Amino acid sequence: FSVSGDSIRQRFLDFYASRSHKILPSSSLVPDDPTVLLTIAGMLQFKPIFLGKAPRQVPRATTSQKCIRTNDVENVGRTSRHHTFFEMLGNFSFGDYFKKEAIKWAWELSTKEYGLPARRLWISVYEDDDEAFEIWNKEIGVPVERILRMGEEDNFWTSGVTGPCGPCSEIYYDFCPERGYSDVDLGDDTRFIEFYNLVFMQYNKKDDGSLEPLKQKNIDTGLGLERMARILQKVPNNYETDLIYPIIEKASELANVSYATADDDAKLNLKIIGDHMRAIVYLISDGVFPSNIGRGYVVRRLIRRAVRTGRLLGIKGDGRGDLEGAFLPSIAEKVIELSTHIDSEVKGKAPRILEELKREELRFVQTLERGEKLLDQMLAEALLSAQENGSVPCLSGKVAFLLYDTYGFPVEITTEVAEERGVSIDMNGFDIEMENQRRQSQAAHNVVKLSVENDSDLAEKITDTEFLGYDSLSAKAVVES
Ligand code: ATP
Ligand code: MG
Ligand code: MG
Ligand code: MG
Repeated sequence: FSVSGDSIRQRFLDFYASRSHKILPSSSLVPDDPTVLLTIAGMLQFKPIFLGKAPRQVPRATTSQKCIRTNDVENVGRTSRHHTFFEMLGNFSFGDYFKKEAIKWAWELSTKEYGLPARRLWISVYEDDDEAFEIWNKEIGVPVERILRMGEEDNFWTSGVTGPCGPCSEIYYDFCPERGYSDVDLGDDTRFIEFYNLVFMQYNKKDDGSLEPLKQKNIDTGLGLERMARILQKVPNNYETDLIYPIIEKASELANVSYATADDDAKLNLKIIGDHMRAIVYLISDGVFPSNIGRGYVVRRLIRRAVRTGRLLGIKGDGRGDLEGAFLPSIAEKVIELSTHIDSEVKGKAPRILEELKREELRFVQTLERGEKLLDQMLAEALLSAQENGSVPCLSGKVAFLLYDTYGFPVEITTEVAEERGVSIDMNGFDIEMENQRRQSQAAHNVVKLSVENDSDLAEKITDTEFLGYDSLSAKAVVES
């Protein structure tokens, strides 16, 4: 059968439809839920049903949900499997079937429908979930060596600090079965990939952390479409699947590099663009416009990251007069072209998306240019004072950090420009500033997380802190995986 992303999605939905699940549309990336900034999983639109606050419309449903996980932004391109934007395929039971059926169907889907060899599949279960262990072993026939018991962090799923939750069981694919059964680490990205998580949703986690049993037992699952595509298309990472690679190709064309022969840095940068452009387009399409607060800040940060990454790749705009030197819109056009099977509304919103992107990119480029002027000035000063003191010209870590943090200057670019003028950079000082900021944003993260949980419209009010630095995007985003 075809292993295109589109057909993998369709086969999942059809598989569960033929087992009495109603196919429902993806909900917006902006959840109808004040405690979460962005949609991080397929279950979010069903949360009121799980909690018994809304009546179920159907006993079983299946979806392909657009998701954003800003907490994975650091992983983008560095692991083979994480994106900020991805599609989560899910099957749901609202007080209908439970563990046994969920496990049986997940196995059947994986081995029969998608044809994965059983001997390559590994299972994780929550440490004290003997029931799930037994079903996998006795009823499905997975040997005990390939069923691992894991702790809360991996195998107890919660949608947030509070809310519906429960023990879960995951299916992993083994790329190197020849590595055998000793020293197995399911988190080893070079050997395994987690692709399907089955959550046995039976508790509500309360403010005080206690677990209250839900009235009914539910099933909530998530299978990463890009991950399944990566397995079935036999490519080394999610980025090289048909869901993302065309975007990378467009970016590499603009950068005049070839992905196949690019060095590791360039490959990483191309992956970052491939990832971020999808997140940006789908966020704007769902009404999230760049700003300095809440969700708008997430999209602004992603855009800035994409711009600076493009510059690192040497992209200088795409030469089209209508774009005035911007390049994000032409990559976004590719994302929009690929969007029709994921979200039929994106195409109709294309003009607005492209306009917004162009404006935001050009605005950021101006900031970058102001930074260039500042850098020029600082380099001249460093040279002068070195001459006066007879010392080696050096730019302070503080200045390098200011350029990075406020003007969006990657330190690699600052270093390069400085070196051209014979000035070195106090990298030690830079690292110290960076570390200080990390600590601060970590503290901010905790505050934001707690307050958003307790204040229904705080997500909209999250303070106007300009630029916490590129690497602390998650400080602004109240999500947990
Ligand atoms: P991982 O351990 O790989 O970070 P996870 O345990 O955080 O994944 P879950 O919360 O269980 O992921 O989400 C369900 C499924 O969604 C995962 O099994 C995976 O297939 C997919 N998924 C989760 N996070 C991402 C991501 N950042 N990018 C792409 N797919 C993802
Ligand atoms: Mg996991
Ligand atoms: Mg998981
Ligand atoms: Mg994760």
